[in-house]
Amino acid sequence: MARIAPEVIDRVRDAANIVDIISQYLDLRKRGQNFVGICPFHNDTHPSLYVSPVKEIYKCFACGAGGNVFTFLTEYDKISFVDAVKQLGAKYGIEVKLSGESEDKDYYSKLYDLHEYAANIFQKRLFSDESKNVISYLTERGLLTDTIKKFRLGISSTGWEDLINKVKSQNYSKDVIEKSGLFTKTEKGIFDRFRNRIMFPIFNQSGKIIAFGGRTLDKDEPAKYLNSPDTQLYHKSDVLYGLHLSRQAIREKEAVFLVEGYMDFIQLYQAGIENVIAASGTALTERHVQQIKKFTNRVFLTYDGDQAGTNATIRAGYLLYHGGVEPLVVVVPKGMDPDDWVREKGAEAIMQGAESAISLIDFQISSKNIKDLSSAERSQFVDDILFAIADIGDSIIRNSILKNISQRLQIDENELLQRLKREQARQRTRGQKDDIVEQPIEFSSLIQKAQSILVKLLASDDPQIRQVVRDKIEIDLISEPVLKKLAEILLPIYNDINYSSIIDQFENKKEREIVANVLMEELPHEDDDLVAIINECILTLKSRLLKEQYKSARFKLRELELKGEETTELRMEVAQLHIELDKMGLL
Ligand SMILES: [Zn+2]
Repeated sequence: MARIAPEVIDRVRDAANIVDIISQYLDLRKRGQNFVGICPFHNDTHPSLYVSPVKEIYKCFACGAGGNVFTFLTEYDKISFVDAVKQLGAKYGIEVKLSGESEDKDYYSKLYDLHEYAANIFQKRLFSDESKNVISYLTERGLLTDTIKKFRLGISSTGWEDLINKVKSQNYSKDVIEKSGLFTKTEKGIFDRFRNRIMFPIFNQSGKIIAFGGRTLDKDEPAKYLNSPDTQLYHKSDVLYGLHLSRQAIREKEAVFLVEGYMDFIQLYQAGIENVIAASGTALTERHVQQIKKFTNRVFLTYDGDQAGTNATIRAGYLLYHGGVEPLVVVVPKGMDPDDWVREKGAEAIMQGAESAISLIDFQISSKNIKDLSSAERSQFVDDILFAIADIGDSIIRNSILKNISQRLQIDENELLQRLKREQARQRTRGQKDDIVEQPIEFSSLIQKAQSILVKLLASDDPQIRQVVRDKIEIDLISEPVLKKLAEILLPIYNDINYSSIIDQFENKKEREIVANVLMEELPHEDDDLVAIINECILTLKSRLLKEQYKSARFKLRELELKGEETTELRMEVAQLHIELDKMGLL
């Protein structure tokens, strides 16, 4: 885990000139205070990308892409944040060292350590007397004690504070505890994230625990599985469950079984099919596919034998196609998971399934009752497939799919090719497929608009304007989480705002785009009465708060009255709210 000291990041960001950097990739022209250019992140025809040399940020008014100089490089060149900082550091003569420094190393080793500690607690509880029923449940599901130990399964307590209390008695910093993903932080304190769940530790490739998946034991719990959130150790879209144990076998067998769940993985592995992997905590991603490709190009999709599994198979299949892998589908018997299948019929059944595995197209065709479809429906079905494969880069894969459709549906291959070409042309003129360009985030409701105007004014480069807002605003009026966080960052800034560094305080891409949007937006004109605008926004937000309070107080009142309880105080509160709302003309 490479990390750069925050001071160095600041130095590089400060040294970089965003207009110079972006100009290396795009033609920028000056327009007013800003520069504009053709946006590289969507199929832009008019210049929609604005770059502010003053604020050191950029923003696209069409697709919503936005950020600072680091985000531009990570997204344009598809490099990591660390590499972006290094690259700019080299350009501006700043030495960027990855922290081998003790403090940082200590932080990460403590994070790993905490996961190891938690796994031991979970494991110990599983093998204690109080969890005998869970052990017998796992044994009934066919897991051997050795397997349970090998995968280090455990169980979390039914309480809310069991793990946190134990952890507090150890030597972990608040930062490590809060960023581990093992706990949830609320206004009332820090609580265990996982309760009464069978715990599956998730390992990185060197076999260290970096996260957990938890399967509930409570029948009424709606979330059957709960996973650690993304943390500094765990990036869901990168991690394949079990790869530290299976990669050797995958290389040797030159093939891999891709399954959906932890239990599927463990059962196959236990049955001797060791070349297996599962995506953990999320559906398969492009990055998973790139990982798989490092090991093998032969992928057997072995998902659940139900409708959800069928849909997931098709989705994963096309993702593999796009990544340059031609998957084969192992048809799992209806109503079964690979987990049940291998337990009931043994590894041979899976191996036979692999021998008679079918192409994705065949699978897709067999999942529909093609004979029952009208010719219009058949044609639509073919169009859907062509739509999905039109932008696959690998022509060998594309052609093999066409051949497959042609054989199965008895459509002339040439005709298919023509239709594919038309689809490709359509997608080119449309730029990309519609779903690839993400819509910019808009704060469209009145309440959201009022919040975003106030935060924009709080981000004004004129300290006097900021002061006017600061005097009138209460942070509770801002309810949109991103805007609230931004407001909290801006409120204490009395001097110049470092816009570009604010962007780096938001980890998620979507959030950074929203923030770039808010920071970039021009303020209302000087001749507008700013005070009036601020007052209006605050009135809008306050009235919403008041109305909500009024509603819930009245609801409570009715409840108490029904129970025949004392209501004097509440009545006074309701009356008071009524007066206030009346004064504001909101009744
Ligand atoms: Zn754009």
